[in-house]
Amino acid sequence: MKIICLGTSAGLPTKERNTQTTVLSLNPHYNEYWMFDCGEAAQHQILHTNIKLGKLTRIFITHLHGDHIFGLPGILTSRSFQGGEHKPLTIYGPVGIRAFVETTLEVSASHLNYPLEIIEVVDKQCFQIHDINIKVGLLKHGVPSFGYRVKMPDIQGNLMKEKLIEQGILPGPIYKQFKNNAVVTIDNITYDTAQFKTESKKGKVLVFYGDTMPCENEMILAHDADVIVHECTYLDGDIDLSHKYFHSHFEDVKQLVIQCNVKHLIINHVSNRYAREDIQCLLSEIEHQLNCTVHIADDFYTYELN
Ligand SMILES: [Zn+2]
Ligand SMILES: [Zn+2]
Repeated sequence: MKIICLGTSAGLPTKERNTQTTVLSLNPHYNEYWMFDCGEAAQHQILHTNIKLGKLTRIFITHLHGDHIFGLPGILTSRSFQGGEHKPLTIYGPVGIRAFVETTLEVSASHLNYPLEIIEVVDKQCFQIHDINIKVGLLKHGVPSFGYRVKMPDIQGNLMKEKLIEQGILPGPIYKQFKNNAVVTIDNITYDTAQFKTESKKGKVLVFYGDTMPCENEMILAHDADVIVHECTYLDGDIDLSHKYFHSHFEDVKQLVIQCNVKHLIINHVSNRYAREDIQCLLSEIEHQLNCTVHIADDFYTYELN
């Protein structure tokens, strides 16, 4: 799996950064891409990658500020001509996302050649896509802004066949039951199947945040996450000012990752007042303050999860 940052700027684009777009490649679990927010240059940025719009199956919108949604009409219409024909697409987002999409398509006389479903989400909503669990949390940003916690399925341990054979349990369909169930009963003997399997591995947890200042829900979403993608509009300076505009300061994000035991932090939504050299300097200061790895994402920064 990969997280690909295609737009990492806050509010306005700069010559180096475009507005918010992040893509999750689910390969090798699924041959699909999910997008989190869709900034203005999303489809242009995709042209520089090997992402195929026909394989983009879900778009999760965090909130309706323009720097997070103005790329949607272009992505949706281009998808019709770039391998998306007849391939369903679902958009998730706050109330209003349906009106935005439907109105834009209607007034521009745009017709999609694939089924489009739009789902308006609410706080604490949980749902499943394939065997992946999604949890939605309302953040604090002046307008409804959501975070999405994505929990990949646990990876089951392998069967220890020699141990089963030792017990007189020979290969056959019964092995499937040992793999898939917690207990199996044979001839009135109940077996705890964990004794016959290597340890299972917890599925990775990834969290994609919308713009926010600190709030309880962002902690709930981040708990024990393997990687979070979080805004940090203010990398330094006045913390009160960042909260006045309902945004996060680096000190806020630092507390979040420490308290929630996050393993990797990707910072995006960086204010356009920071030049690339400033960011390098800040990153070297920041890294020492955290117990996790951290990256301040440029456009096209890619993080690979094993
Ligand atoms: Zn924003
Ligand atoms: Zn915003």
